[in-house]
Amino acid sequence: MTGQKTTAGKPPANAPYKNPTLPVSERADDLLGRMTTYEKIGQMTQLDITLINTTGKQRDIRLDAGRARHLIRNHHIGSFLNGEAVDAADWYAFMEPLTRIAMEESRLGIPILYGIDHIHGATYLQHSTIFPQGINLGATFNPEHARNTGAVTALECADLGHHWVFAPVLDLGVNPLWARFYETYGEDPYLAGLLGAAFVDGMQNHPETSPYRVAATAKHFLGYSNPASGWDRTPASLSMQEIHEFHRPSFQKAIDAGLKTIMVNSGEINGIPVHASREILTNLLREQMGFEGVIVTDWDDIGKLVDFHYTAANFKEATFDAIQAGIDMSMTPLHLKFNTALLELVEEGRVSMARIDASVRRILTLKFELGLFEHPFPRKDRLHRIGSAANRAKASEAARDSIVLLKNEKETLPVIKPRKIGVFGMAVRSRRNLCGGWTLAWQGGDEDRFPGDMATIFTALQQEFPDAEIVHLDVPVDTQPKKDPQTSHLHLHDGTAINSTTLKPTPVTGKSRKQFEQNLKGCDLLIYAGGEEPYCEFVGNINDLHLPAAETAAIREVRCHSNAPMVMVLIEGRPRLIHHIIDLADAVLFAGLPGPEGPEAIAGILSGRHNPAGRLPFSYPMSPNHHLTYNHKRSNLYFFDPDVANHIIQGNTTASLFPFGFGLSYTTFAYSKLRLSTTKALPGDEITGTVTVSNTGNRDGIETVLWFTSTHHGKVSRPVKELRHFEKISLPAGESATVTFRFTPEMLAYPNGHGEPVLENGSYSVRVGGLERKFRVEQPSRSKNV
Ligand code: BGC
Repeated sequence: MTGQKTTAGKPPANAPYKNPTLPVSERADDLLGRMTTYEKIGQMTQLDITLINTTGKQRDIRLDAGRARHLIRNHHIGSFLNGEAVDAADWYAFMEPLTRIAMEESRLGIPILYGIDHIHGATYLQHSTIFPQGINLGATFNPEHARNTGAVTALECADLGHHWVFAPVLDLGVNPLWARFYETYGEDPYLAGLLGAAFVDGMQNHPETSPYRVAATAKHFLGYSNPASGWDRTPASLSMQEIHEFHRPSFQKAIDAGLKTIMVNSGEINGIPVHASREILTNLLREQMGFEGVIVTDWDDIGKLVDFHYTAANFKEATFDAIQAGIDMSMTPLHLKFNTALLELVEEGRVSMARIDASVRRILTLKFELGLFEHPFPRKDRLHRIGSAANRAKASEAARDSIVLLKNEKETLPVIKPRKIGVFGMAVRSRRNLCGGWTLAWQGGDEDRFPGDMATIFTALQQEFPDAEIVHLDVPVDTQPKKDPQTSHLHLHDGTAINSTTLKPTPVTGKSRKQFEQNLKGCDLLIYAGGEEPYCEFVGNINDLHLPAAETAAIREVRCHSNAPMVMVLIEGRPRLIHHIIDLADAVLFAGLPGPEGPEAIAGILSGRHNPAGRLPFSYPMSPNHHLTYNHKRSNLYFFDPDVANHIIQGNTTASLFPFGFGLSYTTFAYSKLRLSTTKALPGDEITGTVTVSNTGNRDGIETVLWFTSTHHGKVSRPVKELRHFEKISLPAGESATVTFRFTPEMLAYPNGHGEPVLENGSYSVRVGGLERKFRVEQPSRSKNV
């Protein structure tokens, strides 16, 4: 391996790449010109922390300087990743010597770029500010919460030498079975794009991280979130038209906001793993979408071309495929096979030096732009900013705005002076359940790793209702889930409908049952809090979306023994099916994964201290075997109903238990006077829609005004409606406001299979708050073909 040997000596102290006053491109070119092939390949490699710590375990943040030195000096590795949550002082003690090795012992002194899964806050850092997960941010319909998440994460991790954060997730939450649903901002491309762009801006441009900067990573490019089976990393089938229309926009908005890096989808689309797809990574991402930053693979995904997708016969061919597709850096991450394979490919002439240089230039440019050459070392004089009250207040606001009130019969909520509250469900005393995966550890930290002063649902209720007796109902049900013999870790559930008429209490026997009945006696409010245990990625694959059987059984059991009003608080990363038990609850809150500040937010909503303002960023599924997102095609809904006149139902009805955008408040809002400035528009015209929104209840409240359009005819069949704009308005009781939406016909164009815009002539509608106004678009000459 000739390239492995460094042929040149140390560069002079005044080498141009060391001069911060020169333009980045000049510095990058100078440095590139000094590098050996193997040094360049080292920059294209990212290795895991377990190769440089003392025990080889993720949680071990103690540097083994000898191992690090070997990889940096002999193999020129330019990037490492991950770990788990430890104290800031431990991260500092790890990052400082690691950086010193790179800066002082490597020939060229190229700084390390450390990547980390700080997914919703600096989540791999003990005592940091932890925000709600992405699905909750989606439910706020407020990009400021995404911006704050990005900004606070950067503020809390940049000083520790964490300059590269693997967030935000800009996949769409379109498949509720998918175990990464909760990492998304929901099912709508427009909403995901706005939140994603705000996150990127907040993270990459935070003035108070200075002199450091942090790069965001939009992931997982693209189409990852809709595998046909619903299981993580399994194949998806998507036409290029669908990719352009639905999966591209969220990434495009982040790119347009200055996004620095992108991580690739581990799955395959139409039989081609995305890591080997030149069509997706080069033709689409680079050429059409204009992305100039760094493309990093996901975990061992070059290896997976060999032993997961079986599209390459060996690691070297897989490396060739990924390089020709367009990746810049390989998260290899547990060996040096990538370095060896790529060096051989260059030496054999199969990969050109120009191709290597293109990737290395992007990686060096990123390091220059982040200021790493000037400020490579972590610092510890500002660590008091981690988990500060001001940062936590932002997480708390986001949590509060993310809770969605789905059902509230007979004004069960807000509760008035309860005397005895019976609480039950898997999340009642849990901290980890509120935070989900990627929190402190990959699959979510163990309970004892969460700060002792973090509230639980139980303690927050005690705080919120100091005059009430709060009892934890230990419901005596069989908590052992049934096991599927095929996939023993997966839970099977029985989705048989349960309502008050089919309920039969289990006979009262045994001590625990007596205790349960005793506790239940006198309860004038029942609160179920639960849904799912934390999980992440493929570990969270399930084959039944119903609420876990033990939870359903507990709800049923409690209902059998008490008629008190029951509130279901769903703490879950994906919408578990509740159609079969929803009749047992008088009120339902979707709380998702609200994070550590969630209990206070939930308790405040139950008491009425907060008026709920969250909206569903996804369609809550109604049934196990049929699910549509809100922006489905008219022809998606076509079924026989014996109770309607011609028996055929088609088109614009909803197929979900609760539709996208749904969310109740403790006040009511009415929409009136929807007007359009014109009913006929030409391209270039601006159309103004106005509507009056009135708070018709007796409490102040926040309304999320969602503007949709429908394109009545399209050569590529059109969604029944598409979200185009939204605005949150705060309205005092009894007051009204006029809300405006301005748009042009061009904004209504949709992409064809090549990504070119098609603007249809003809009839359109604007929809807001149940109102609709039609208008026409008439162009002098019709758009060409599709
Ligand atoms: C996940 C990524 C993550 C990476 C690094 C992968 O398994 O898919 O989302 O950023 O690991 O931990």
